[in-house]
Amino acid sequence: MRYLYAPPHCLKFLTGKTLCWQIPTREKKIFLTFDDGPTPGVTEQVLEILQQFQARATFFVLGKNARENPGLIENILSHGHAIGSHGWDHLNGWKTPLKTYLANAESFPLPLEMPLYRPPYGRITPAQAWQMKKRGYTIVMWSVLSRDYEPRLNRQKAFQQIISLTRDGSILLFHDSLKAASNCLAILPELMGHFSAKGFSFESLSLAPAFLASGQQNNDIFVPPKRS
Ligand SMILES: [Zn+2]
Repeated sequence: MRYLYAPPHCLKFLTGKTLCWQIPTREKKIFLTFDDGPTPGVTEQVLEILQQFQARATFFVLGKNARENPGLIENILSHGHAIGSHGWDHLNGWKTPLKTYLANAESFPLPLEMPLYRPPYGRITPAQAWQMKKRGYTIVMWSVLSRDYEPRLNRQKAFQQIISLTRDGSILLFHDSLKAASNCLAILPELMGHFSAKGFSFESLSLAPAFLASGQQNNDIFVPPKRS
């Protein structure tokens, strides 16, 4: 079961210098991330749940959704959450030529306080990753996948898997999309309640210690050079 919810160790080891899979910290911090939004009717509910727990999170939004829903983007930012890019419209990097991929990623319409990028489907070729790094992006993957997009997800099993895999500095992946809404909105409060009771806090990646310590680099994470 574990392999369904967490990336294999060998993949993390092989790509650890290029891709960020977790935040190296010994503090009780969890980094919640939400992909594929913003989605009217869903993102607002996610924001409400986050507010109940005084949480900060990171939204990897699609460029086209951001363009269509500027009010939701404002809402996300006004609640103190971070925004990262998920490309313009969810291209699969493994099936997309380099030039097309970069053009798609570069058409992202929002200025980013911190240049964070999550490849759609988590699929990115080494050449695409290198070019995105060269453009100053930190490529953020995940430590634990919620599988909230599965229509027949056994929520209780998913919940158990997520809590058994989550550690200090884990990056958890959810979706504020229509497809994932029912699972995401059901699992999220339960999960946040569980970890809050254990003394964890929820922070946005813009506050991640690894990103704040500029110039620091280790095997787990790529930190881009400081932008002038
Ligand atoms: Zn996605």
